[in-house]
Amino acid sequence: MKLNNQIIIAVDGHSSCGKSTFAKQIAQKLNYIYIDSGAMYRAVAYYAIKNNLVQEKHILVEELIKQLPDIHIRFQRNPDGDLETLLNNENIEEHIRGVAVSELVSEVSKIKEVRAYLVKLQQEMGQHKGIVMDGRDIGTVVFPEAEIKLFMTAQPEVRAKRRYDELIAKGIDVSFESILKNVLERDYNDSNRKESPLIQAEDAVVLDNSNMTIEDQMPWLLDVFKNKNLID
Ligand code: C5P
Repeated sequence: MKLNNQIIIAVDGHSSCGKSTFAKQIAQKLNYIYIDSGAMYRAVAYYAIKNNLVQEKHILVEELIKQLPDIHIRFQRNPDGDLETLLNNENIEEHIRGVAVSELVSEVSKIKEVRAYLVKLQQEMGQHKGIVMDGRDIGTVVFPEAEIKLFMTAQPEVRAKRRYDELIAKGIDVSFESILKNVLERDYNDSNRKESPLIQAEDAVVLDNSNMTIEDQMPWLLDVFKNKNLID
């Protein structure tokens, strides 16, 4: 599919509501670049762990800030066509999805200097447009001029149930209550942190997929494109 103009699509929203799945699908449909900004925060967390910048589960913030110029993040397509994250030319895709990084990443994403460094990189990646980026501050801070801003959400119970089903299917024994608690905690942390909290951009289009399937979402977006005269 081809839009009338080359644009930027920002996909923000709550955790566990399918942002990256949808952002990837959109990029594929438009033949655009897809960037997972969360992977970049995860890469910095991984760098901190690898370089002994974590003591008793806390980051040595000053030292990490000093070393930011040594942190080079890029993405590379694997043979399946999926993007993988590279830190200083090392493929770290598998490491950044693990528990150690997941536990540390919200501390990393609170650091103002880390955000400034990554936002600049993200803006460079979007300078020629033709990009779909997902995260928490893409439509508000990274690309406030993005032509399309989606704000994705779903009821916490629905997001928790999807996550619960995924884990159970993988054979991981968890309780629904603990998953729901985690979803609510992450919502609170994302929305209440001082630096670039998750807020809905004024001109964002809300996609509440509580009662939608993944297949329902693309036709919904095509209507958005039509309403904005991006397709004929
Ligand atoms: O999207 P994902 O869960 O992989 O993001 C990892 C972490 O990075 C989250 O804790 C999220 O709050 C943070 N993040 C952020 N700003 C972004 C993307 C992610 O603070 N643009």
